[in-house]
Amino acid sequence: MLRPILVITKAVFLTMTRKMLRTVIILATISLAGIMATQLFWVVRAFDQGDKLFTHNVNLALQNVVESLCNYNSTDYPGVNPVEQLSSNYFIVRTNNMIEPKVLEYFLKAELEKRQLDTPFEYSIFDCQHEKMVFGSEVRNFDDQSNLHKRVFPELLPNNYYFGVYFPEKPVFIAGQMGIWVFSTLVLFIVVIYFSYTIYVILRQRKLSEIQKDFINNMTHELRTPLATIAISAEVLKNIGNDQPERLKSYASIIENESQKLKNQVERVLEMVSLEKEENALRQEVVDIHEVIMESMASLKPQLEAKAGTFSTSFCESQCQVKGDRLHLSNIFFNLLDNAIKYCREHPIISIGTTNMGQWLHINITDNGIGIAPEDQPRVFDRFYRVPTGNVHNAKGFGIGLHYVKLIVETHGGSITLESRYGVGSTFHLTFPIWSSK
Ligand code: ADP
Repeated sequence: MLRPILVITKAVFLTMTRKMLRTVIILATISLAGIMATQLFWVVRAFDQGDKLFTHNVNLALQNVVESLCNYNSTDYPGVNPVEQLSSNYFIVRTNNMIEPKVLEYFLKAELEKRQLDTPFEYSIFDCQHEKMVFGSEVRNFDDQSNLHKRVFPELLPNNYYFGVYFPEKPVFIAGQMGIWVFSTLVLFIVVIYFSYTIYVILRQRKLSEIQKDFINNMTHELRTPLATIAISAEVLKNIGNDQPERLKSYASIIENESQKLKNQVERVLEMVSLEKEENALRQEVVDIHEVIMESMASLKPQLEAKAGTFSTSFCESQCQVKGDRLHLSNIFFNLLDNAIKYCREHPIISIGTTNMGQWLHINITDNGIGIAPEDQPRVFDRFYRVPTGNVHNAKGFGIGLHYVKLIVETHGGSITLESRYGVGSTFHLTFPIWSSK
């Protein structure tokens, strides 16, 4: 039942503009808060009424007890109301009578039960002259009358006594009488939780759909540019005669480069999708991480030189082998180094260091790029997330590079963290378990 409602609500909300959505959420929240405040008001009032009714009934019950005691002792009923409420759940009764504990307990039970006040109570008998308690007991079970005869009660002198009755569980008793209120509050609570969950799902879906829209825009742009270059080069090739072999060659290589770029882009997306679906299990081979890093550095040399940048390495001398998929491991370093070059305004200075700590291999990749603001740092590893660029940089990408890197690192039992200062540079810290033949 709830699911179709959620689906319809989601569909309606997703078609709304951002401003409309915000207004609807604010209005719905205000109405819910209003309903909750009203509910609270009525619950408090109902409790108050319950409290008043309880006090009234206890008063009547205790007056009847006094009457019964007077009849029992053949004395006159006191002229004024003998019941006095000392606190919300404590009453004293001035009987000016002889009180036998057994008799008092019997009358108390009978009168309270008659008014459905069957909540545990404690009673104590006080000596009026010496102002001290002469007897005290507790009643938890109203049904157990037999117990009354078995118990030993003290013999009290024929003196004037008064007694006190205390109801320790009065709030629980009153709450127990408010069944419908408890039920409606519970229903309201479920509605509030359901509403909050719906809003959370809608906002998440909305964010996701916006991110996916961005991804499609980026992807279209990324694919369109090499395709246009290929189309133009093919057009030029058609018109170049055989007498210009150098031009022929250069346009053919443009086509080759661009189609390679296209292939890489498509493969990156497909690889990630298949990895997330776990279609292809990772291969398990022993990979020399230093070797893989050097290979990635070599393939990125043209981009680095184009920006007059430098790579520097400081590799540990001991073990640096990791068990895993060589292709994916090499993609990690390619992506990180590619980003380090891409997100640097001038001359990239990139250093790569590895250290061996026990069973772990730590790798740091530091750049002097544009850095990532603290508010974006937790999200750069999210799928399709790109730092809102504004005028900061115009490097294009799909926002899947770091997500893919994290996915691969974690599937290899490792971890990745980011340390970055906006405008200064970034360091990616990676950790892998070292493979050992033992
Ligand atoms: P993209 O395809 O956009 O490069 P990534 O997942 O690789 O996607 O990176 C996500 C975002 O993180 C990028 O849009 C970029 O803004 C930021 N980023 C990644 N690496 C760096 C870096 N070395 N320096 C500064 N910003 C970076």
